[in-house]
Amino acid sequence: CVSQSQDFDFFYFVQQWPGSYCDTKQSCCYPNTGKPAADFGIHGLWPNYEDGSYPSNCDPSNSFNQAKISDLISNMQKNWPSLACPSSNSIQFWTHEWEKHGTCSESVLSQHGYFDTALSLKGKTNLLEALKSAGINPDGNSYSLVDIKNAINGAIGYTPWIECNVDASGNSQLYQIYLCVDNSGSDLIECPVFPKGKCGSEIEFPSF
Ligand code: 5GP
Ligand code: 5GP
Ligand code: 5GP
Repeated sequence: CVSQSQDFDFFYFVQQWPGSYCDTKQSCCYPNTGKPAADFGIHGLWPNYEDGSYPSNCDPSNSFNQAKISDLISNMQKNWPSLACPSSNSIQFWTHEWEKHGTCSESVLSQHGYFDTALSLKGKTNLLEALKSAGINPDGNSYSLVDIKNAINGAIGYTPWIECNVDASGNSQLYQIYLCVDNSGSDLIECPVFPKGKCGSEIEFPSF
């Protein structure tokens, strides 16, 4: 139908630093599978509009079905662990991400395709390697926001957005990194619009 409006314009691919999820006042719980590796983990692949708004919970009839992604589970436990309390096998986190965000891109990605695409994007964007190569290490020191962004841009070729949170002592720290992906899930793109939110000009990169 020619007048059908577009489902969404692009994706945010969002990765979280576990050290910054865990050192907050709220703290964290490791999944049943054990302490995750000291690496960025996937938070989600989020359909978005170019005006900054986004759709959510688009198809309640298309609920999360673990059987559809049984071949991906071990890869997901490694690369998409949940750090929320109480400890779990991360399935609630994946269920939430599929039902809130994934169902809004079901016209382009099946449930299997959605999780497979996120895993493959994680494989193509080694953020920790990009930062370490620039001398930016998860050692509890502070680094300039501009240096962090330039390190990622230099390694990956696209400008990231950095989201900060605060540790238990109130210091601003590197929490999540956003990259943008075209609306087929195939390629990274420059972000059409950036999220909102403040970091300091120097932010902590805690260990995990
Ligand atoms: P917060 O308000 O903590 O930043 O985000 C809460 C939740 O809202 C996120 O986990 C995510 O599900 C959703 N969210 C926040 N910002 C965006 C955005 O810019 N785009 C999309 N698609 N979802 C977002
Ligand atoms: P969002 O709505 O922001 O995409 O997803 C956040 C939801 O997932 C929250 O309800 C949060 O409790 C849950 N969640 C479970 N595990 C994690 C985790 O490891 N990181 C984050 N950020 N949220 C998690
Ligand atoms: P500019 O676009 O001039 O680099 O930055 C404009 C404002 O946005 C400045 O206050 C800067 O600190 C902030 N900013 C730039 N990049 C980021 C980012 O990736 N994350 C956050 N939270 N703020 C940023």
